[in-house]
This record gives sequence, structure tokens and C-alpha cells, in this order.
Amino acid sequence: TTVYLNGDFLPAEQAKISPMDRGFLFGDGIYEVIPSYGGRFVGFTPHIDRMHSGLAQLSIDIKLNHDAWQQIANKLIADNSAELGSNLGVYFQVSRGTDTKRGHAFPTNVAPTVFGFAFAIPPEPIADKAKATTYTVVTGQDLRWQRCNIKSTSLLGNVLHYQQSQTQGAQEILLFDKDGNLTEGAAVNVFVVKNGIIATPPLSSRLLPGITRQVLLAILEQHSKLKVEQRDISEAEVLAADEIWLTSSSKEIAPVLRVNDQPVGNGQVGDIWLQAQQLFSAYKFDY
Ligand code: PLP
Repeated sequence: TTVYLNGDFLPAEQAKISPMDRGFLFGDGIYEVIPSYGGRFVGFTPHIDRMHSGLAQLSIDIKLNHDAWQQIANKLIADNSAELGSNLGVYFQVSRGTDTKRGHAFPTNVAPTVFGFAFAIPPEPIADKAKATTYTVVTGQDLRWQRCNIKSTSLLGNVLHYQQSQTQGAQEILLFDKDGNLTEGAAVNVFVVKNGIIATPPLSSRLLPGITRQVLLAILEQHSKLKVEQRDISEAEVLAADEIWLTSSSKEIAPVLRVNDQPVGNGQVGDIWLQAQQLFSAYKFDY
């Protein structure tokens, strides 16, 4: 595997980062995952915009612009597709950099550490009820910090919530804030459907502004007459929903069939999901 590290492309086993790197010591960095199929990216520009927004919020200055990121991503795909196949995710991570000592204060005169690699992802999800990958989820209180809009490499809160779902025999967890409103999952955004109306929580510091969420909302608005609301959603509404979907770069739109051991709606993959995934499959490369 060829990876990118601080301006160089090199074999993964030769890529070395100091243990004094603040990404390692503090989780002081930002990451991004961009899906590609046959060399075509989904949402490359919004993914890079989100990364730059996160870096700005952490006051990490970075010299790379969109074109530079695009060139790195293209080369990671070109250099690794023979080994890894044509469905590839590109992972980027920028940490504040490597200091000589461990101290909380931002170091001065330290260059950010920039790392990138490509990894195999599942084939493109297919808009077919019989072929959908479906999910079983549990619910829980969101115990993460209050800046979940930042795609930080400090993922311990998400990791613990994800593991909570595994321990309970599920594959994801739907999280609710202390007011009882849905935020997101451990690694996904969440949509619900009731009586044909689609709803998802509005953007706030309590959830990641998912690119799949963003692209799906744009596609639904531009290419369908389906009604979509961005509003607070209670746990009671989630439990009474006809359909629940999880969205992320690798899952696209994934139907949830069980919540807390109860069926969602009639327990089958839904009709609105089918329409949404058909539209997403048709238009996703436009964003
Ligand atoms: N929410 C969290 C916490 C995530 O980690 C992710 C991505 O993995 C998402 C939502 C979905 O975001 P995206 O659609 O940009 O992959």
C-alpha cells in the first residue's frame, strides 16, 4: 500500500509519525473519509470544505488547497487500485503536528502532520429492497462533547457508543441529547419517515454535518417532490416511525429494520427508502 505523508508518497510500512505528535497524544486533529467508485468521488468538494472548516475551528493552518487535495487523492487511488480494487475510500488526517514536549497549549512554529491513505470499501449500495444492507440499532443517551460538528480524530465518545451497540447485539446506536432529541448515531446521521414525510435533525454542534446527509437533502430538494423537514425529533417519534435510515459515506442510505428489539414500521425495507436510494444512486456523482 502506498500512503501519503507530509508531501511524500511511500510504502505504508515506511511512513513514520513521532509519538510526540499531538494527533497521538491529544487526538488534536481533523480527519475526513471520501468514497470513490471507479475513480469517481462522491462529494469531494463538500468533504474538503468540511475538513477546512474543522481545521479553521481548531486554528490549524494548512497550505493545501482543493486542487492539491484532489491530486493527492487521485494518486492514492491510482497507486492502490491494482491491489485494493476500484471501490476505494480516501482517508485524510491533519494533526496540529509534532512538538518536542507534551503541553496542552498550542505549540508555535510546528508544521501540521498531513497523512492520507486509500482503503477498500464495499461496492456501491444498490437501490433494491432485496439487496439492501439493513441494520438493527439500539437507543441511548448521547454522552459525547458539545462540539460534535467538528470531525475530530478524538473519537473516544463515538467509539464507546459504537461498542455499546455491539455489546447489545446491534450494529449502531441512535443517540438522544438531554432534552430527548435525536442527534445522530456513533458513525452515521439519521433520517426518519412518517406518513411519507422525511425528517432529520437540523445541523447543530450536537451532530456531524454529514456529507451524505447534505447530498441527499440536495438531491431530494432538486430531483423529487418528497417532503423533507429538518427539525427536532423525539425518541417517541423515532420509535413510531414508518422508516428509519442511517446515512454515511460508506453506507449511503441504509434502512433500519429493528430498534431496541422492536420492528420499525412493518419490519420491511420501506418504499420511501427505495425512492431515496434510487435518486441518490442516480445523482450522487454530481456533488
Ligand atoms: N456522524 C458521525 C459521527 C460520523 O462519524 C459520520 C461519518 O462517518 C457521519 C455522521 C456521516 O458523515 P458522512 O456522510 O460525511 O460520511
